[in-house]
Amino acid sequence: MNSLSLFAFLCVISAHSITISANFAAYPPIPGVNAKEGCPLRGGGGDALTPLRREVYDNGKIFDISHRYAPELPVWESSEGLGQDFLWLTTSIKNGSRANNSEFKLGAHTGTHVDAPGHFYDNYYDAGFDVDSLDLKLLNGLALLVDTPRDKNITAEVMKSLNIPKGVRRVLFRTSNTDRRLMFKKEFDTSYVGFKEDGAKWLIQNTDIKLVGIDYLSAAAYDHSVQSHLAFLESREIILVEGLKLDDVPAGVYSLSCLPLRLVHSEASPIRCILIT
Ligand SMILES: [Zn+2]
Repeated sequence: MNSLSLFAFLCVISAHSITISANFAAYPPIPGVNAKEGCPLRGGGGDALTPLRREVYDNGKIFDISHRYAPELPVWESSEGLGQDFLWLTTSIKNGSRANNSEFKLGAHTGTHVDAPGHFYDNYYDAGFDVDSLDLKLLNGLALLVDTPRDKNITAEVMKSLNIPKGVRRVLFRTSNTDRRLMFKKEFDTSYVGFKEDGAKWLIQNTDIKLVGIDYLSAAAYDHSVQSHLAFLESREIILVEGLKLDDVPAGVYSLSCLPLRLVHSEASPIRCILIT
């Protein structure tokens, strides 16, 4: 086998394994981007210049559970989604600059993000309980991914039925929001499911859970948005990670890694989260 055919062979093998592990068919294309996977060994020009976009890394050992910031991403109470204008080039090589330089503008609660206590408590906001004050030890560690009963908000009864053992500190709740692919639909949908106030209170009183992850833009059900957030955030011990991408990840125990931006004075931040088996 000459070096060229060896190269082609390696590309075919790697592309095949990526197709299996990444399950690209489950994900819509990113607007304006050719999202089909390229050969990771390629670095040249022409047709081969295609970025590799992955949901799963290292043969299924690492799952990216963050959503991409793209125009179709839904935004709270908007029918337009994030739109094309959130990211733009301020200088570009095409216009004669030596480098491309972008700026972006985002709500702090856009996409996969974390809420700090100041989100619903103004006294906490004034005192500085922002995303920079969140505990990285809580945002990183063993986590349980569980499926909740479908098409039901997370009530006290649902929480009880999940039988989450004492000692479990981080739980990612996968709901019918994932089945309905709501985070892939640009129109904000008030029929998403989330925590009712009694579900939040049951969790606080009966479990050791301090990190609550959910698969739409709010941990709270739409009609309990205020009540559930107030319950969760009152103690300043619970961190809410919202807008997680939990598609095609088996339920179970993982090592969770979540890192927010150090946005001083901000009650929320975009966050990158991964699960490692
Ligand atoms: Zn939020």
